[in-house]
Amino acid sequence: MKRKPVIAIDGPAGSGKSTIAKLVAFALGFHYIDTGAMYRAITLKALREGTDRKSETALTELAGRTKIGFEYGAVLKVFIDGADVTEAIRLPEVSKASSDIADSRGVRQALVKKQQEMGAAGGVIMDGRDIGSVVFPDAEVKIYLDAAVEERAARRYKELTEKGIKTVLSLVRQDIAERDERDRNRLFGALVKVKDAVTVDTTGLSIEQVTAKINGIIKEKL
Ligand code: C5P
Repeated sequence: MKRKPVIAIDGPAGSGKSTIAKLVAFALGFHYIDTGAMYRAITLKALREGTDRKSETALTELAGRTKIGFEYGAVLKVFIDGADVTEAIRLPEVSKASSDIADSRGVRQALVKKQQEMGAAGGVIMDGRDIGSVVFPDAEVKIYLDAAVEERAARRYKELTEKGIKTVLSLVRQDIAERDERDRNRLFGALVKVKDAVTVDTTGLSIEQVTAKINGIIKEKL
């Protein structure tokens, strides 16, 4: 049987991927899969267990024995081994360490396999860095969301402040710029704009404007 469509949304941190993907998924009746949350979940567990981040063996072993779960509702909940970590994975220290952990080949192999299984039947919208290039190179729709780094930092700062997490705009900007650099230059699963992806620059656009653009692209492709 032919699978239902897969929509891949890639782009740098703070480009609006998760906000838009959630809205579009809801409108289409698709499942939303936040792959960044999976890298964050492994990172949180590694930080809690004090795993040696330089040890590929230790990271691969950790990824292999960690169960990541999602619960779909008004808020997408994320679980590690049954425990709710939805809020903990958004802490700045987890963001910072996540792109380091995401360099691990073993971690990437484990998570890519899980993502492919989760999306195998289609009817999903998946966001991340390597969805259109590695996880679902045959996705029916590929979108590359981008925005100026200042705007991405301002959005992330607002999000964190609203959640009661205290931080400083310049630090958020620095974190985003550093993660961009790592995410674009890693050996496996680097953030790239694949040839068949449609780029949407969200700088200066409202959520409604971006959603309308994305809906238009999806309509055209499907
Ligand atoms: O998207 P989000 O900012 O939550 O992702 C956290 C980190 O996980 C990113 O900085 C990136 O290093 C990593 N990641 C990845 N591949 C993905 C999704 C996220 O390497 N598909």
